[in-house]
Amino acid sequence: MVSIVVSGAAGRMGKRIVALAQNDHDLKVVAGVDVKPERSELNMVGELDQIRGDYACVIEFTSPAVTVEHAKIAAEQKKSMVIGTTGLSDEQFNAIKQASEIIPIVFSPNMSVCVNLFFDIIKKSAGVLGKNYKISINETHHIHKKDSPSGTAKFMARIAKEKSGNADAPIHAMRKDEIVGDHDIIFESEVDTLKISHSAKTRDIFALGALTAAKFIVKKKMGLFSMSEVLGLEERKEDGA
Ligand code: NAD
Repeated sequence: MVSIVVSGAAGRMGKRIVALAQNDHDLKVVAGVDVKPERSELNMVGELDQIRGDYACVIEFTSPAVTVEHAKIAAEQKKSMVIGTTGLSDEQFNAIKQASEIIPIVFSPNMSVCVNLFFDIIKKSAGVLGKNYKISINETHHIHKKDSPSGTAKFMARIAKEKSGNADAPIHAMRKDEIVGDHDIIFESEVDTLKISHSAKTRDIFALGALTAAKFIVKKKMGLFSMSEVLGLEERKEDGA
């Protein structure tokens, strides 16, 4: 049984993570953390360091600044972490990296299984097509999303540029209605176009991925892990186990 704390428990993602974890016999939700008061049967606290019960892993879906603070607390308390928060600056990401020298952390801008397969297909396509194809990315999300472009789109651009050798992979971001998350990547040459798309139907794809990541990360000692490593799509170069 893996005992977890959900940080951002009153948020859109946090609520689904709590609900799905409560139906999973391998998981126990010890508490939720949120600054927003929430009527819930769950033990809710306002600060991560107010939790008194024992637990193994914090699942974090809040804001970048809060996530950095919580990574420091988790490192002090030697808890593992699953971080889904997006929009971190380089400096904030470095703080997460530092914490991962003490505790094990899964960090992924997109926790869905299919999206991580999508990343794999993008890497392969960019590697084969190289500089002969211009790359562009479209993403559409709901109007409540705070960061733009999405962490997923930025990651797609990074891997596509790295693997193709292209200097540029512009992202076109749209905010519309309640769209959960649509991403397209387009490789275009003089002779043809390759378009690869992923469309999320519900937020549960991310919540279920976060729970899978929690079960994986509690078995590690330290290090920063990707969702590809959680899913076995990528082998670890250095052993963080
Ligand atoms: P949200 O605004 O609905 O929820 C965030 C919650 O964090 C809120 O309830 C807020 O009150 C709470 N919060 C704020 N300060 C806090 C603090 N100090 N301590 C504890 N809780 C605090 O947002 P959301 O849609 O649930 O998304 C949260 C984050 O997760 C965003 O960065 C989003 O982009 C990201 N996200 C990632 C994935 C993924 O797969 N990695 C998927 C969806 C969303």
